[in-house]
Amino acid sequence: MRILVVEDDVNLSRQLSEALKDAGYVVDQAFDGEEGHYLGDTEPYDAIILDIGLPEMDGITVLEKWRADGKGMPVLLLTARDRWSDKVAGIDAGADDYVAKPFHVEEVLARIRALIRRAAGHASADIICGPVRLDTKGSKASVNGEALKLTSHEYRLLSYLMHHMGEVVSRTELVEHMYDQDFDRDSNTIEVFVGRLRKKIGVDMIETVRGLGYRMQAPANGK
Ligand code: CA
Repeated sequence: MRILVVEDDVNLSRQLSEALKDAGYVVDQAFDGEEGHYLGDTEPYDAIILDIGLPEMDGITVLEKWRADGKGMPVLLLTARDRWSDKVAGIDAGADDYVAKPFHVEEVLARIRALIRRAAGHASADIICGPVRLDTKGSKASVNGEALKLTSHEYRLLSYLMHHMGEVVSRTELVEHMYDQDFDRDSNTIEVFVGRLRKKIGVDMIETVRGLGYRMQAPANGK
């Protein structure tokens, strides 16, 4: 899962980015409204954290422009504690949630997890697909109750496939959601990660859909 953080306070941006990376997300950062708007317009993010008070273009305007262009990704606004009018304006502009500053990073992480889950149609913190359970809170997974030892790339891959279970996900889509914008992307590596993940899961659940990509679903026999 790939997150964009649009925040001009360099320390706060770093704090958020590090916490998100620790939780298994890939993170891009923008430090003003124009750069943030551009990235959100051109890159596919699973969620965006957007500060309201930004140089070049304020957060509400950035959000309004995205929504006017039909961009539907989940957006969490960062607002000033005492500015209730900002919260109202933000939600009216199409924000999915907000957190008032100062905040605890854990709260932002919990809200981001919930936004990403709900965008994918999952209400619970644990996503279950046959014998595989993804614990989005602990950033870990298990098969038949046994913990899977996954690298960060494998976790990201599994997490994306499970959030989109039953759907065909292309290699390009996986690359875009598993790496940040500066990463030297090679979609061939995806095949390698899928192979390793299949081996670790041990149950045949990730189907290769020729020419299209991959689809993860519970085995038909219910095991
Ligand atoms: Ca700011």
